[in-house]
Amino acid sequence: MSADGAAVRHRVVVVGGGFGGLFAARRLRRTAVDVTLVDRSANHVFQPMLYQFATGVVPAATIAPPHRSIFRRIKNVRVLLAEVVGFDLDRREVRARAPDGGELTLPYDSVIVAAGFRTSYFGHDEFAPYAPGMKTIDEAATVGRRIFGAFEVAETCENPEERRAWLTFAIVGAGPTGVELAGQVRQAAAHTLRREFRTIDPSSARVLLFDGGEKPLATFGDHLSERATRELEKMGVELHMGCLATAIDDQGLDVRTADGTVTRHEARTVVWTAGVSASPLGRMLAAASGAPADRAGRVEVLPDCTLPGHPEVFVIGDLMSLNHLPGVAEVAMQSGLHAARTIRYRLERRETKPFHYVDMGSMAYIGRRHAVVDFRGLKLSGFLGWLMWLAIHLTFLTGFMNRFTALFNWLTALTGTRRVRVFDVSNVTPAPGADVAHRAATTRPRSL
Ligand SMILES: Cc1cc2nc3c(=O)[nH]c(=O)nc-3n(C[C@H](O)[C@H](O)[C@H](O)COP(=O)(O)OP(=O)(O)OC[C@H]3O[C@@H](n4cnc5c(N)ncnc54)[C@H](O)[C@@H]3O)c2cc1C
Repeated sequence: MSADGAAVRHRVVVVGGGFGGLFAARRLRRTAVDVTLVDRSANHVFQPMLYQFATGVVPAATIAPPHRSIFRRIKNVRVLLAEVVGFDLDRREVRARAPDGGELTLPYDSVIVAAGFRTSYFGHDEFAPYAPGMKTIDEAATVGRRIFGAFEVAETCENPEERRAWLTFAIVGAGPTGVELAGQVRQAAAHTLRREFRTIDPSSARVLLFDGGEKPLATFGDHLSERATRELEKMGVELHMGCLATAIDDQGLDVRTADGTVTRHEARTVVWTAGVSASPLGRMLAAASGAPADRAGRVEVLPDCTLPGHPEVFVIGDLMSLNHLPGVAEVAMQSGLHAARTIRYRLERRETKPFHYVDMGSMAYIGRRHAVVDFRGLKLSGFLGWLMWLAIHLTFLTGFMNRFTALFNWLTALTGTRRVRVFDVSNVTPAPGADVAHRAATTRPRSL
């Protein structure tokens, strides 16, 4: 009972409203608990479609609905915009910073931490200004401005070499994000922009895809990886496998092959899809509970996704390390549902179970009406793969209107239409200010 005589309900704090946090909080709607979902972003980002936002297919609103709107009808969930900065596991409190900088303390009976991953340059943070990542809406917006901005700069270039460099796009990392982005840039160049420019030929744009491994989509298995390779090559993407980026600047990048040879590529647009590491909250929880953290900063959890000695603390999704499960949306969603179910079962004094992951497979959209899909052992590619990709993405997008808008945009993109392009002269170049001034100083006056 509280001081005013009202029954105090079990308090659940959910840290992060990505796939894991969203599924956990929604599943708790019919449980007698009070949920506080705290996220430093006002929006739930559907990360697998960030590349579609970056390449002008879908608007940000379609893939990033506000948390408040998602939970508007779920009365036992309160949404807070704040950045979590620490935990007091003994006092059962989450510490957060409010948008105005003020400190917040959020007491809990159970906490579900789903703070996910962030872009990592593997110790090369100096790459960041020149090679944005693809983890947040802001990063994807930057990538989109640079890609479409590069065509604009090329349109005003007289020097053929300079123009060529602006029409060369380097993507580092040939996992699903890199592969999907590479396909979309080629598609935008060859089908959308081809009709829109008068001086340059956008369809001549080169897209170079680099990866330290032997093949793209290596985790998808040989069959789908080979199909993806063939499809990418057909679309004109140049694959540079077995290549590690060793330097990136505003003019291009250096890559090193296994035999030590370093090659320079002039590419004014470079995108980093090669690495991610866990939110720093992972190491904080590991240190506070004595649980080990792996190299990526993920916390090793017990089979029920809780911390040793703290059954009330769940770590789920990308932030948890358990049985080598991959950092994919399905793991996050299922572990979120598991945490919510465990909390409910405990309140109902029912027996709880360890987390059991059901692998639904993986997929990647390569280009026009082509996707590779491994769905519960069923391997599809080409048009059938695309239909399956479409159905699965429509199922998991949040909100009816977003599904409708996405479908409309996907179908119009098939005709080459990409209307989601918003930028101006101030944000098309790699580094703000200094580099623009540098280029202005080194570029001859031109008469167009
Ligand atoms: C570009 C891209 C493409 C992908 N494609 C696929 C795909 O095709 N298929 C697939 O299965 N998976 C894909 N993934 C992986 C998938 O998106 C992740 O596995 C999934 O989002 C993990 O869910 P999560 O809830 O653990 O973390 P996230 O979805 O990353 O959510 C973490 C949330 O925590 C919030 N947060 C972080 N730190 C704090 C803090 N200190 N305080 C408050 N809030 C915080 C963030 O704002 C975010 O909302 C992709 C990922 C990316 C980036």
